Amino acid sequence: MPDYNHILAAVDFSAAAEAIGKRALDLSRRYDCQVTLIHVVDYLLPLGYADDFTPSPVLMIDENELLEQSQRSLQTFAEKTGLEGARRQVLPGSPRQEIIRYAREHGADLIVIGSHGRHGLDRLLGSTARSILNDAPCDVLAVRIKEA
Ligand code: AMP
Repeated sequence: MPDYNHILAAVDFSAAAEAIGKRALDLSRRYDCQVTLIHVVDYLLPLGYADDFTPSPVLMIDENELLEQSQRSLQTFAEKTGLEGARRQVLPGSPRQEIIRYAREHGADLIVIGSHGRHGLDRLLGSTARSILNDAPCDVLAVRIKEA
């Protein structure tokens, strides 16, 4: 196995997230390396208009409030999983695109994801997981999440 220097752990706050945090912590100890926790706020995807003129309620959500809320959740997550020393990054946008972009721009050499997140357990891999495996610039570890 190669030595890893920078692990990027993708956290969506689903039931899978704790297993991802635990695996990232174990690996960071084994390789004595940096961990970044990333959460992407993807609320922009369903943007639309209720009719031709009235913005749908999702448009009225305060973007800064959502991002700040996610910052707080990520901090709580880091404390709960023993990853207080990890860098934390919250970004708006498409999870698969932002995770790949962040990994590329910050030289992550391992991305840790869950095999499934909030998008169902009907397939072997979720849609975000599949896209990341296809496009990642580095190794990807998909932590197997089994149905409860
Ligand atoms: P999915 O393929 O959407 O079921 O999710 C698979 C994995 O992708 C999750 O277990 C997370 O590791 C990651 N992921 C999905 N959505 C997000 C998100 N919004 N922010 C960070 N990671 C995510």
